[in-house]
This record gives sequence, C-alpha cells and structure tokens, in this order.
Amino acid sequence: MEQYDAVIIGSGYGGSIPAARLAEAGMSVLVLERGPRYAAADFEQSDDPRYIQRIVDLVLSKTNVAFRTGKMVGGASIPMDGAHFRMPQRSFEVVDGLGRRYWPDVYSRAMLDPYYERAEQMLSVRQLGWTEISKAGGLFAKMLDTVGASAERARLNYTDCRQCGFCAQGCIYGKKQSLLYNYIPLAESHGAEFRAGCLVDHLEPVKGGYLVYYERFGVARHAFARRVFVAGGGIHTPALLLRSQNWLPALSSHVGEHFNNNGEHAFLGILPPEFDELSSYLCWKGMDNAGVMSFHWFDSHDFTLHPGGGIEPTVFAADFAAPDDAVLPSRAWGMPYKRFVETVYPHRIIAFSALGLAEGHRAVAIDAAGAPDMVERDRSAYDAYLDRIEVVMADLEAQTGVRLLPTVPRPLAGTTSAHLLCSCRMAESAADGVVDPDGQVFGYENLYVCDASALSFALGVNPALTISAIAERTAELAIAKG
Ligand SMILES: Cc1cc2nc3c(=O)[nH]c(=O)nc-3n(C[C@H](O)[C@H](O)[C@H](O)COP(=O)(O)OP(=O)(O)OC[C@H]3O[C@@H](n4cnc5c(N)ncnc54)[C@H](O)[C@@H]3O)c2cc1C
Ligand code: SF4
Repeated sequence: MEQYDAVIIGSGYGGSIPAARLAEAGMSVLVLERGPRYAAADFEQSDDPRYIQRIVDLVLSKTNVAFRTGKMVGGASIPMDGAHFRMPQRSFEVVDGLGRRYWPDVYSRAMLDPYYERAEQMLSVRQLGWTEISKAGGLFAKMLDTVGASAERARLNYTDCRQCGFCAQGCIYGKKQSLLYNYIPLAESHGAEFRAGCLVDHLEPVKGGYLVYYERFGVARHAFARRVFVAGGGIHTPALLLRSQNWLPALSSHVGEHFNNNGEHAFLGILPPEFDELSSYLCWKGMDNAGVMSFHWFDSHDFTLHPGGGIEPTVFAADFAAPDDAVLPSRAWGMPYKRFVETVYPHRIIAFSALGLAEGHRAVAIDAAGAPDMVERDRSAYDAYLDRIEVVMADLEAQTGVRLLPTVPRPLAGTTSAHLLCSCRMAESAADGVVDPDGQVFGYENLYVCDASALSFALGVNPALTISAIAERTAELAIAKG
C-alpha cells in the first residue's frame, strides 16, 4: 500500500498551498486531483460551451442551481478572474442572530496579514496602474463619480497582460499567475506528486492516520497518510465528508450547512449617450476583471462592487431577466438589436457584481449515488441583503441615467455563483461548525479542511486570497504540530 506523510485531495488554493509548504518542510506528499493536468498551450480562446465545460465544473442540481468550480490541476485558479483582495476587518466582526461572531476569536485582519503577505508574493498580486484599467472599468468609475462614490484600482495577479479578454478560458499566454506558476512547481520541486485523474470517494480513519479511497482509470485504489487535507472546494469537500460519514461518525452535523455565495449578485448597466467617449476603445476589450472596484457602500450597506468583462453572457442573462425592457432590445434577431450591437455595445455597456456580507440560504447534500446536491434553506436574511442592494441601484439609476438591470430575475437570485463558501465552516466548537480555528476537523486528529468550504462567513470581497492565507496558516500549524 502507498504511504505518505500527507495526502491532499484537490489541487486548488486549499490543496496546492499545503502541498507546497508540507513538501518544503520535508514531508512526502501526494495530491489526488480528479481532473486532468493542462498547460497554457492546452487552453483555447473559445466561448464554445463544450470547451468551457472542460475547464469549469458546472454543478447543477434539482433545485435549479448552477455553481461553477474548478476541475483540473490548479482548481479554479485556472478560470478565475484574478481579483485578490484582503478581507476588511469589518468582515471578521460580523455576528449571527445571537450576537456571536461567525469567525473564531483568534481571527482578525492583523492576525492574517502576514499570511496574506506571503500568499500575495507567491501569487504575484499587485495593484494595477491606471493605464492598465479597461474601458469598462473606466466607465464604471465614471458612473460612480457622477454620484460622488469612490472606486479604486483592483489588485490582480496578472503580469504583462495582453488584454485579450480570455482569462476565464485559461490564459494561453501564461500571464495570469494561476497555481500552475507558483505553489504547484514549488511543491513539485520538493518532491510532491500531483496525480491527475484521481476521483476520491471517501476516507476511513485507521491506526495512525487515514486511508483515502479513490478511483483512477476505472481502477479502485487507496493510499495511507498520517495527515489528510480535504480541499475539493465548497461543494465537493462537504460531499466527500458526507460520503465518509459511516467511517467518520463524529463529524459535526454542520457538514454541508451554511453554504454561502458571498452575496454575489450581478448587474448589467446600459449607459446614456453622454458617457459615449474614447470611441477607439471598446467595452469588451481587456481583462475579464475590469480593473477597478468600489468599497463605497460597504460600511453602510454591506456590499462591494466589482465590474468585469463577460459582457456578452451578461447581456444575454439580463435580457432573460427583463425581456420587455425598453433600453435593452430583445435578442430576437432584428434591426433594433443590430443597432444596439453597433452603437451601444462597444461604448456604453458595463457589467458588474455585488459581493457582500450576506447570509447563506442553501446546504450541500448528497444524492443516493453520493453526488452533491443542493437543498434550500431559509432565504429571508439573504432577501433582506438583496433589498439593500436594490435600493442603492435604484438610486444610482435615478441619479446617473444609467439603466441597471439585474442579470437574473429576483426569485432566481443566488442560484448561480463562482463563490462557493462556508459549507464546512470554521468555528470555536463542533456545536457551530466543522473545523476548528486551526483548520482541523473536530473529532479527527490530523484531518484538515482549509479550502473555500472552511471559511466562517461571506467575505464581502473575492475569496481566493483569504483561502490562500488561511491555507498558509493551516499548513504552518500542521507542520509545527509534527
Ligand atoms: C470563473 C471563475 C472566476 C472566479 N474569479 C475569481 C476572482 O477573480 N477572485 C477570487 O478571489 N475568486 C474567484 N473565483 C473563485 C475562486 O476561484 C475559488 O473561490 C477558489 O478557487 C476556491 O479554491 P478551493 O481550493 O476551495 O477550490 P477549487 O479551486 O475549486 O479546487 C478544488 C479542486 O478539487 C478537485 N476535486 C473536487 N472533488 C474532488 C475529489 N472527490 N477527488 C479529487 N479531486 C477533487 C477539483 O477538481 C478542483 O480542482 C472564481 C471562480 C470561477 C469558477
Ligand atoms: S487578458 Fe491577460 S490574463 Fe487574461 S487571458 Fe489575456 S493575456 Fe491572459
């Protein structure tokens, strides 16, 4: 039987970072990744849905949700949009209905800052210069400026970017600094093995460690390790733990609960003609992230705003959400839509998402075959959060003349996201969560979770950098523990 000091399941931020640090510390490390391994030359600048599905896992469920997550070596660092923000201190302080902090006491911005620093250096995160911001980002900032609201340059992990706009398809030029260019080579240079095409089914504790059961090329296998890190992401980590429940009976009843989409809610903005300028620049050109963001409403309304590319699918979605809108012509083929494409599309259109301190309103469960399924929970707190956003958008629309359309009808808000968080949340005790403040699963020595599922609550900003910082800390503590 194969034996390692550590087996890690999944190779996104929550998996590749401990892999690098444990291997660096001299441990033997096996990373089991269900998907294939691709290099920049394997990516395509294609919107073909068949290609997109090769690099993004679309988790669908009977309750009409479509969540996007990673499915290859490097996880969702490959299709992600590159935004890396530290979590503001205010996000650590959010309390539940009983007045208790969601985050464990030890967590604060000051405590995580050294780990943020380490992750930023590894991932080449930096604040963009003004000349790197796309036209869509500039128009977004101009819209906010009209009402006296602030916007700032985003922090991204692109170096020497060619502004071609295919970041979500995997960058063919190797300019987006995904995990393929930092933590994974660091881990491999210290002997870690990333084994692609290995779907882990479940775990079983045995004397001195864990057996990890997986399938490769249709053949059932298992490996033993003293330490196991489960890092399948916000949907697949709880599903794996739920499949392991027969062997891990002491797991907290919170596994799968509190699933949170980080308050992601997207809008399309159609700007009035007075915004039409810089005609030699086009709204759809540039990085998938438009290069700016706004904290303006964070303290008062709990959300931040993030303009992006992806305008074509956003127009499509907004048209579905508001088929009779006067400003957005129906996409049924015809002259009004041709004129719209010709005059409005290149110069007067923006897409942006709100991210915020919203409650979750779903849980991850498994079906009879052990595959993840999503179940509904109370959404009243989430709806109250959406109400707060909509009040601000209505005011912004009235003051600027920009037509602002949500990209999904209100009853479907929250049914799609790329931020899949909190489903094995970190807490002070098993009565409130699945992992302890050091990332160890309650009741199971040396079993760790430090991916998106372990976050205690929504962040209000993009999650990758916080997942990375917590993964750095969890690895450090696991190494110190020996
Ligand atoms: C299109 C897109 C754009 C995004 N843009 C941003 C952004 O700009 N900024 C930001 O901060 N965040 C962004 N995100 C979100 C961010 O990428 C994720 O939050 C982050 O990657 C989650 O890291 P993770 O390690 O938890 O999971 P993942 O990165 O999803 O990695 C999990 C890995 O585990 C593997 N796996 C799952 N189950 C098993 C199993 N049973 N056996 C073996 N392997 C398994 C998966 O194949 C996957 O590779 C984006 C996400 C997407 C999809
Ligand atoms: S816009 Fe930049 S980071 Fe995105 S795919 Fe093109 S070169 Fe790569």
